[in-house]
Amino acid sequence: MTEETQLAIIGAGPGGYTAAFLAADLGLRVTLIDEAPRPGGVCLYRGCMPSKALLHAAKVVTDARAAAAWGVSFGDPTIDVARLRAWKDDVVAKLTGGLALLSRQRKVAFVQGRASFEDAHTLRVTPTGDDAADGVRTIAFEHAIVATGSRPARPASLALDDSRVLDSTRALDLDRVPASLLVVGGGYIGLELGTVYAALGSAVTIVELTGSLLPGADPDLVRVVARRIAGTVHAVHLKTAVNRLAACPDGIDVTLEPAGAAVRTERFDQVLVAVGRTPNSDLPGLVERTRVELDARGFIRVDAQRRAAEPSIFAVGDVAGEPMLAHKAFAEARVAVDTITGNAASFAPRAVPAVVFTDPEVAWCGLTETGAAASGQRVAVARFPWGASGRALTLDRPEGVTKLVLEPESGRVLGVGLVGTGAGELIAEGVVAVEKGLTAADLADVIHPHPTVSETLAEAAEVFFGRSTHVYRPKRR
Ligand code: FAD
Ligand code: NAD
Repeated sequence: MTEETQLAIIGAGPGGYTAAFLAADLGLRVTLIDEAPRPGGVCLYRGCMPSKALLHAAKVVTDARAAAAWGVSFGDPTIDVARLRAWKDDVVAKLTGGLALLSRQRKVAFVQGRASFEDAHTLRVTPTGDDAADGVRTIAFEHAIVATGSRPARPASLALDDSRVLDSTRALDLDRVPASLLVVGGGYIGLELGTVYAALGSAVTIVELTGSLLPGADPDLVRVVARRIAGTVHAVHLKTAVNRLAACPDGIDVTLEPAGAAVRTERFDQVLVAVGRTPNSDLPGLVERTRVELDARGFIRVDAQRRAAEPSIFAVGDVAGEPMLAHKAFAEARVAVDTITGNAASFAPRAVPAVVFTDPEVAWCGLTETGAAASGQRVAVARFPWGASGRALTLDRPEGVTKLVLEPESGRVLGVGLVGTGAGELIAEGVVAVEKGLTAADLADVIHPHPTVSETLAEAAEVFFGRSTHVYRPKRR
């Protein structure tokens, strides 16, 4: 028997559950399908949330160590891995349980199963989990949103089938704290999970193919976090490729290929491969039985409304393109549902914030200095060093930087870059400034609470005008 729904959503991560809840709020009959027992997706089960719980624990460990310098000593931390894992799992369970409740309250029909496409208006769902014994279900839909997310990329050269070679999901399971860990990839995941394992006691080595950690982010911001990371991990090797892993009884032998230097092999207890993510666009039938098209990297091609080449099918989140971030998925989901329900909407943000939750955090939005240089756009840059922030000094974290990328004549805020403790929270003000076309004068004129690091945004704006209270700029005579 064919079940009927107005909106079928495949994937219950940030994109899928946001779309489902909004569509239900707007009165649609919604079916939300995911292989997992509850909504949450990668973000809740094996991404944003477990990583942030572990990063919080890591920060407590490093802060406790740093406190010795201020005369407050806690002694060496002892890490109960099982308890830490249980706490992290509890956070995830609370969050996914909350989403399941919200889903029931909105009368969203949640189906646990794996979906494939029969045609542009029909899905087949093979039940998973407790429902696995039930037969295949056929669901006819008016519209569908594909929100199937992404999975860790594992190039063939790094695809050694050995339990000591981890991807982010396995690393977040936190089976044990290895004595030594090689992290392949100095991007978001490599740095965040490298930070966690280093704080828990592993000797962490990070290997990055390009000449910089977090390639693409502004070098002045990366420099600050790179300096700190250098003090907490065993080693960082830039311009070095890892293309061969070999199992041996007491570790994984890794072949390191530094640019312009001799190839060498080192042994590690465990290896974390974090070299990017691949979109889950390989649903059977999606391309073969509908008009949906993929781009060269496997992302579903969508327009500004997130509609695919097949008019009844939309795509949001990681499967619909970069940046692969949860808040991008949230925003796209709302655009897709607004479009389906007949409200004018389009996805054209000026600023999708990026936050790397290392210690210190790195965050940026809008135009970066690197981006401006690459496109030849003339910009003015106003920088406020956190060494001049009273709040940063009380936190013993003066290494931060707040930077505004401005239109030289008008002072319009085109981009904001931050590195420093709590940068991930501060960037929200930057997003408002960029998105709403505010100027440096707007930021400077607003009274910021004292003493907070949020003041650095107003002070950076004052730097632009040459009148920052806490930065002395000698007058030209
Ligand atoms: P996903 O969250 O990937 O969910 C897709 C869902 O679809 C999954 O539940 C999957 O089981 C289901 N699915 C797939 N195929 C099918 C099928 N055929 N049938 C049924 N169900 C299917 N982003 C941030 O913004 N901030 C962070 O701090 C952050 N930290 C991260 C940390 C890690 C370790 C990782 C891996 C990612 C992190 N991300 C972070 C990225 C973030 O998790 C993703 O951008 C986000 O989850 C994408 O949401 P989504 O809705 O597109 O899909
Ligand atoms: P990434 O693209 O951020 O970084 C991968 C890094 O691996 C790159 O710097 C690349 O140069 C390097 N690399 C590739 N091949 C290599 C090789 N053979 N040897 C050495 N280095 C190599 O990818 P990721 O860290 O896997 O994260 C995937 C995505 O997940 C991110 O791009 C982001 O969208 C999302 N994410 C976001 C957050 C957050 O928002 N805080 C956290 C984690 C993940």
